[in-house]
Amino acid sequence: MVDISRRTFNRVIAGAAATGVAKSLSAEGSSRHVVVVGGGFGGASVAKYLRIQDPSIAVTLIEPKKVFHTCPFSSHVVAGLAEMDSIAHGYEIIRRAHDISVVHNTVISVDPGHRIVTLKGGDRILYDRLVMSPGIGFRWNDVEGYTEAASEVMPHAWNAGPQTELLRRQLRSMEDGGLVIVSPPPGLYRCGPAPYERISLIADYLRREKPRSKILVLDPKERFAQQEKFRRGWDLLYSDMVELLPLSEDGKVVRVDAGTMELETEFGELHHGAVVNFIPAQRAGDIAMQTGLADASGWCPIDPITFESTLIANIHVLGDSALASPMPRSAYTANSQAKVVAQAVAALLRDQTPPPSPSFDSLCYSLVGPDYGIKIAGTYSVMNGVFAPGEAPPKTEGPNARAKDATSAKSWYREITEEIFG
Ligand SMILES: Cc1cc2nc3c(=O)[nH]c(=O)nc-3n(C[C@H](O)[C@H](O)[C@H](O)COP(=O)(O)OP(=O)(O)OC[C@H]3O[C@@H](n4cnc5c(N)ncnc54)[C@H](O)[C@@H]3O)c2cc1C
Repeated sequence: MVDISRRTFNRVIAGAAATGVAKSLSAEGSSRHVVVVGGGFGGASVAKYLRIQDPSIAVTLIEPKKVFHTCPFSSHVVAGLAEMDSIAHGYEIIRRAHDISVVHNTVISVDPGHRIVTLKGGDRILYDRLVMSPGIGFRWNDVEGYTEAASEVMPHAWNAGPQTELLRRQLRSMEDGGLVIVSPPPGLYRCGPAPYERISLIADYLRREKPRSKILVLDPKERFAQQEKFRRGWDLLYSDMVELLPLSEDGKVVRVDAGTMELETEFGELHHGAVVNFIPAQRAGDIAMQTGLADASGWCPIDPITFESTLIANIHVLGDSALASPMPRSAYTANSQAKVVAQAVAALLRDQTPPPSPSFDSLCYSLVGPDYGIKIAGTYSVMNGVFAPGEAPPKTEGPNARAKDATSAKSWYREITEEIFG
């Protein structure tokens, strides 16, 4: 049986015992029950803020992992600048401080008609509203040969955890003089500048530990986020260690061979890496796709005021899975969206109108080196039914701006993870 609080006990139906349409019972607690799928930045935040918004709403958070490793600062781990423990967060405080039922399991299907989620093992949970924040899924085989099995040899490390450790181990065991190939993803993907931060921190590791090694970046795009700032940092810190081939210079990989560690580009060039960090094209998380929440783009269209799916009623989608452009797919925006979603869901459950003019913040730091940071900040609002960027914040670049941003990155991480996980 799953771990559930008494309040939600009546809403869980053991798979074997379930018959017909389950009834939402409310003998001991609230008549309103929100199920949140995914305990990452978006899901854990929305669970907390729902309970703060309205303590009479029962919240069940479903997340398979007992320990959540954050993608932010995972490239530090890859580069040997931090340990896995430093990016690990548990759910005890969320559970206790906010009286949230945290169920460590995976949602395998959703029945929107009957408002039931089914968990691995067969347990089923009723909801009044469902909130999904399942992160990203990968477009396996979009590039020939890059399958899930290939990712065990050429890790993407784009979800933090075993993939992070694998890439770190590979870099450690590589001989000095080896070629590291990094291939950033095309299209819309999780965290625009993160592949370039990854490249930077790998370069920092190589400079320290394997100075005869080089990094080749095969990029299917022509330009990338904060390009000039990264380029300037690479020139300053790593001189000729990083070579980047954009789309126009044959940067697009069309085939990989995990057996030979080779990547073939559009114009037929073959590159052999000692370590290959291949980051594939992305889409909404598997459960969002499977539920029918994504459109042809592979991401989930939403109402910008409530984040309710425009395809399926009573299900809200936030974080990386949601189509919320031009907002970046980042931990900070997922957390910012969660506060808006919590307000909207609480209002809808009371049959009230959600606040009509939500606003969102985005704040992100990328490290080009341990003491060389780049700050990226923005605000967003809803205008004429779509997300619109606000005024860019004034630039305050002093003489030590890069060092200050690197220090602020650490406080940023501490603050956001303490806010969510306690
Ligand atoms: C290398 C890297 C560095 C980054 N650095 C930064 C940064 O510095 N700043 C920043 O703001 N952002 C950063 N990001 C982006 C940030 O990690 C994501 O935008 C953020 O995690 C999105 O939150 P989310 O809730 O959508 O997904 P996640 O945080 O990934 O959470 C999704 C959760 O859903 C769970 N889940 C999935 N399917 C199911 C299911 N069927 N049932 C139950 N649970 C399920 C997963 O286990 C997971 O825990 C970085 C990303 C990467 C890859």
